[in-house]
Amino acid sequence: MPSQAPVIVWFRQDLRLSDNPALLAAHKTGAPIVPLYVLDDDTPGLWRMGAASRVWLHHSLHRLNESLQGRLVIAKGGPLDVLKSVIAQTGARQLFWNRCYEPWRTARDAGIKSALQADQIEVASFNASLLWEPWEIKNQSGSPYKVFTPFFRKGYLPRGVPHPPLPAPASLRLETDIPSGFPSLADLELCPTLPWGDEVISHWHVGEVAALNRLLDFLEQKLAGYKEGRDFPAQEQISRLSPSLHFGEISPRQIWYEALACAQTQHTPQNDLEHFLAELGWREFSYHLLYHFPDLPQRNFQEKFDAFPWQTLPEKDLDQWRHGRTGYPIVDAAMRELWQTGFMHNRCRMIVGSFLVKHLLCDWQIGARWFWDCLFDADLASNSASWQWIAGSGADAAPYFRIFNPITQGEKFDPTGTYIRRYVPELSQLPLRYLFAPWEAPPSVLSNAGITLGKTYPHPMVDHNAARIRALKAFESLKNTA
Ligand SMILES: Cc1cc2nc3c(=O)[nH]c(=O)nc-3n(C[C@H](O)[C@H](O)[C@H](O)COP(=O)(O)OP(=O)(O)OC[C@H]3O[C@@H](n4cnc5c(N)ncnc54)[C@H](O)[C@@H]3O)c2cc1C
Repeated sequence: MPSQAPVIVWFRQDLRLSDNPALLAAHKTGAPIVPLYVLDDDTPGLWRMGAASRVWLHHSLHRLNESLQGRLVIAKGGPLDVLKSVIAQTGARQLFWNRCYEPWRTARDAGIKSALQADQIEVASFNASLLWEPWEIKNQSGSPYKVFTPFFRKGYLPRGVPHPPLPAPASLRLETDIPSGFPSLADLELCPTLPWGDEVISHWHVGEVAALNRLLDFLEQKLAGYKEGRDFPAQEQISRLSPSLHFGEISPRQIWYEALACAQTQHTPQNDLEHFLAELGWREFSYHLLYHFPDLPQRNFQEKFDAFPWQTLPEKDLDQWRHGRTGYPIVDAAMRELWQTGFMHNRCRMIVGSFLVKHLLCDWQIGARWFWDCLFDADLASNSASWQWIAGSGADAAPYFRIFNPITQGEKFDPTGTYIRRYVPELSQLPLRYLFAPWEAPPSVLSNAGITLGKTYPHPMVDHNAARIRALKAFESLKNTA
């Protein structure tokens, strides 16, 4: 029997074997598979992967390579050149991948597809990371949705149940003749030499198996009560699946179907299940926006915000925000959670985002950039859409007069102070009554708690009431702008 030319599976944001349509399609050809990952740092420009994402990627590729019996070909550079080299070395005639939706990727992939098709290579792409394709959902006039609720209720839910997840191929036939001249995972130097890299990842288990375990653990223990509990950062009643979803260690279809199955067997309250599925809907909505409005990451969705009087903050002020030294304990706890764990609870993302944009009048793009560098789940669609939502410049934005009060947000969502004490240990001895606004504590209370404001913990960098009035004025200045 003549030997069959191998087929290349180009892994990108689908670092898993199950529910991986490109891999399954390759498996079904019966040809030996060349699994490939290419680190492309050139095409994304401004949106080159941030430091935290690179650390996650390192560990995720390590796990994927283990599942592929050490046969994952790893490369760095322009994917077209890499693919041509792999094709030349292996004689592959087919290339399969799962689609990505970042504008720089869609443009790049279209170019690669036509270049390789011109060389008589069969190229096929699949949907592995969204429940529905962004172009499948349109409003009645055939345009993309700009507001979440109609998107979800009228465009999304009526489509019915998404495609069930696909099984992992039973036994993979992997190409044994591994192409030469490619780097090892270590050669990619994804992990920084700073101790931060090891510390930040120590809070997580990475890879496909870990993602599935995290999902099952969440569904069994935390889905009941999710709707209320998801707002309280100390409670951790959330799935923490976002980094795994971003890197494709798990698919939204797997989550959707497991959630339905679990809710049925455990009789989970319907509102908890629906709320959780709606959060997946927010993710899809972010992709919908990014796909239809590719400028979303770098332009105000509402053009009138181009005239917004953002302040240019000195780096030292920005650093106070970045490193959790604003003097507002809930903001500081959240920013330190981000730095220490590569993650921040959603409620806290809203609080720190609002603080930056409204209390400090700083352009949302500066916040989005810091998140991009520090979040394990840094995702162009969700990050851009969420920051624009916070700023008020987005498609379906929070109203401009919604300015989170960083004191009452702490009182309401961290009522026992557990979250603040966990991440701001220098305040751990402060009685709860003063924990959300330490500057209101009498000197004797501060002294008993071992706190010297301005030394062991900062004074608030802005006065809340003054900052609120200033923000309202700034936002009102846009009111009459078209
Ligand atoms: C300023 C700001 C920036 C953000 N940046 C990102 C980002 O870069 N990457 C990212 O994945 N999410 C981002 N989010 C959305 C949200 O905070 C995270 O998805 C969520 O906190 C992840 O935690 P989880 O997996 O435990 O979520 P769960 O509550 O368990 O929700 C399940 C899944 O639903 C999706 N989801 C939940 N909330 C949202 C949301 N508001 N928007 C989009 N998808 C959502 C996520 O994929 C999440 O994993 C951002 C939110 C804000 C306010």
